[in-house]
Amino acid sequence: MSKLRKIPSVDSLINTAAANDLIQKYGRNQTLLSIRKILENYRNHLSDFEVPISSELIMDRSREQLEETFKTTLLPVINATGVILHTNLGRAPLSQDTLNAMQIVGTSYSTLEFDLPRGKRGSRSMHVEQILCQLTGAESAFIVNNNASAILLVLSGLASRKRVIISRTQLIEIGGGFRIPDVLKRSGAKLVEIGATNQVHIYDYSEALLEPTSLVMHAHHSNFRIVGFASEPDIKEICKISHQHGVPVLDDLGSGTFIDTSLYGLPHEPTITESLLAGSDIVTFSGDKLLGGPQAGIILGRKNLIEKIKKHPLARAVRPDKFCLAGLNATLLHYLREEVEQKIPIWQMISKSSKEIYEIAFRWKEMIGFGKVESNRSTIGGGSLPEETLPTYVLSIPVRNPDKFLKELRGLEHPIIARIENDCILFDPRTVFDSQEKQIVDGIKSIFSQEINSE
Ligand SMILES: *Cc1c(COP(=O)(O)O)cnc(C)c1O
Repeated sequence: MSKLRKIPSVDSLINTAAANDLIQKYGRNQTLLSIRKILENYRNHLSDFEVPISSELIMDRSREQLEETFKTTLLPVINATGVILHTNLGRAPLSQDTLNAMQIVGTSYSTLEFDLPRGKRGSRSMHVEQILCQLTGAESAFIVNNNASAILLVLSGLASRKRVIISRTQLIEIGGGFRIPDVLKRSGAKLVEIGATNQVHIYDYSEALLEPTSLVMHAHHSNFRIVGFASEPDIKEICKISHQHGVPVLDDLGSGTFIDTSLYGLPHEPTITESLLAGSDIVTFSGDKLLGGPQAGIILGRKNLIEKIKKHPLARAVRPDKFCLAGLNATLLHYLREEVEQKIPIWQMISKSSKEIYEIAFRWKEMIGFGKVESNRSTIGGGSLPEETLPTYVLSIPVRNPDKFLKELRGLEHPIIARIENDCILFDPRTVFDSQEKQIVDGIKSIFSQEINSE
């Protein structure tokens, strides 16, 4: 009898209980496809296998294959790094009200671009413009997909083919290859660099402003700091000299904050209102950095300039979706109600007391039975407040092979992201949610028990 005959047929396999189970879970097409693929593989490499090949074996392989196909790669993780705005881990986690608002518009039709009283087409930006103006004192607002596109749109709308002045101290790369000078060029603006890397003076601005100029740009240093012999005019001085020449100023605040960070023992991050009061005609910032909301680019400023920006064809290409707008609105309402520390996760983390953090770290240590509680620093991250940290307590666990241990933490059912310092693994409770306590403790314990069993 030919060896081929000893492989079960597709027809017999698809009618088994095991196949039925897979069909319920993954659909008939995918189940059939995976069975066919496995059978073909057996046929092509028949000499490598013992025959007959059982149906069970094939269906087990099929289940594995389907599980792999349907596996999602965008998964929740436990952030025990103490980096509050971790760009690789999705920046700001959202408040419950924000999530609810996003769910409501996601599962229903909505007034996204519909003026309910008039029964006519409305504007999608409208839903958050008013509240943003109320919170900041800005004349007008416009929302786009993220801050990078906000900058690109503002420059394209106001400065295409015209001169834009920017200081050499601010020609930054934010990360992910986003460079201010490149974006300036992409927008069609003519980049005019002034000053030296470490020193820029107000006369550098006034000299450059002698030629016709469309915009002066100021950019937050974001993720780096110049130390030593370095100085540059502040935003107020830049606005003053620019306005004397009739030129508007764009201030890219990067993170942007409504809250005075110095209240939390951090250096003072310029607030949005401060920049507007200093004279900035347009400010831009992200929705998912210190604001603590969904990904968005927020453009605030003078009405006549914003009207021009809105009309640029690129505005349509970088428009925000309904989730962004619903979520942003809900997050902004927390600011209006002055309940930021109670409701917005990143501000809950920033304002968490040392005592509270110590108690959590200590509890973890007791539950796990290893390590010790030590003082350390949490980082704000997210290209705001460069290198700025908050005092914290961490659970520090010495391990034989730290890299291997980190890898095992990442491989857990609820993956844990931690960091290494002096051959110890550090777990910072500041960025771990209360609801994740059991997962983190059980996860760490399970790795230790595996190690003990394998010895
Ligand atoms: C983060 C940052 C950006 C980019 O913002 P995204 O919302 O990530 O697009 C631009 N400028 C500065 C100064 C930043 O810090």
